[in-house]
Amino acid sequence: MSKRLPSHLRKIGHVFVDESMQDSPMARRVRDKLAGTDRADIPWTVVPPEQDRIEFVRGETQALYLKEYKGKFLRFCPGTRAYHCCGYRIIHIGENCPMACSYCILQAYFQDRVLKIWANQDDLFTELGNAFGADRNTRYRVGTGEFTDSLALEHLTGYSANLIHFLEDYDNVVLELKSKVVDLTWMDATTRTDRVLPAWSLNAPFINEHEEFDVSTLRERLTAARTCAEAGFRVCLHFDPIIHYPGWEEGYAETIDMIFDYVKPEQIAYMSLGSFRCMPQLTPIIENNFPDTTYIYNEFVPGLDGKARLLRPLRVAQFKFMVDRLRKHGMDKQLYFCMESTEVWNEVFGYAPKDFGGLGNRLMAQAFGEE
Ligand code: SF4
Repeated sequence: MSKRLPSHLRKIGHVFVDESMQDSPMARRVRDKLAGTDRADIPWTVVPPEQDRIEFVRGETQALYLKEYKGKFLRFCPGTRAYHCCGYRIIHIGENCPMACSYCILQAYFQDRVLKIWANQDDLFTELGNAFGADRNTRYRVGTGEFTDSLALEHLTGYSANLIHFLEDYDNVVLELKSKVVDLTWMDATTRTDRVLPAWSLNAPFINEHEEFDVSTLRERLTAARTCAEAGFRVCLHFDPIIHYPGWEEGYAETIDMIFDYVKPEQIAYMSLGSFRCMPQLTPIIENNFPDTTYIYNEFVPGLDGKARLLRPLRVAQFKFMVDRLRKHGMDKQLYFCMESTEVWNEVFGYAPKDFGGLGNRLMAQAFGEE
């Protein structure tokens, strides 16, 4: 009997593949996977070499595009000098996401319904091998969840499993897999539980229910985190974006308390806290795509990176509340801010990254299990 595609992939209604990628292992895998499901009849279209992009507009239906990517796969995270950046490197495996979160920045980057997967994995592995193998004493903390969700398409592509398997040879690399769905099929691809950090974003239950669509529940994410922790992995959890809404204290307190029903503080490699930030062009997109969303009308000021951010006293109040509660559960040094100033660090934590040698250095050490 054919299997049902997971709910977050059920909007996919068409597959495009670059002519040069038709016979790639990735294309074969996606074809085989779909053939074994109730969506085996999804049409495929081959994209000729001279065509650089595809147009796809068909209501809510999404397209999957298996593309030959010609750019750089290993990149720096686009942080800002004005704030403390975590120094993370991105492995670019594709673009766009099948799920829908009202606050998602990807809506401003990709305004179509095309989920792109870079199918030329040989080129990716060649570039990564050259970079990571050049000096085995240089350490890397890398992740794939910057322009897509790390595991959203894993069911069809097996991309993370391939990547993890490839990275087994590189003791100097730790990979973080950041997601809002539960897919643990990649776990079988590695013996290095110390070099893979499964990560889930968390939020208040109200935000999960009203602002995140086609994603897993908080309890499903935490159950998955517990499964990984029991298998020997350390996990990462991220509160980003923290949203100011009526009842936020109860909401974030509930999620924080819930975490420790599933995992112990020592099983968490690190946890980020990031307040909702918004590029000016994102606000009208959110208004249009999610007309019931109200948090975008909060009191915002332009930050040094040009993004709107909640007024500092409101941000700091939320951070203090959450950090205080997390500390009561035994979390401390694993906590960090995503893109905040020295002043905010000092006000909330009582210290700033320069006091411990920089945020990037600390997270690198924690990723490698040294702190
Ligand atoms: S799961 Fe992540 S990448 Fe996908 S829509 Fe939500 S915020 Fe964006």
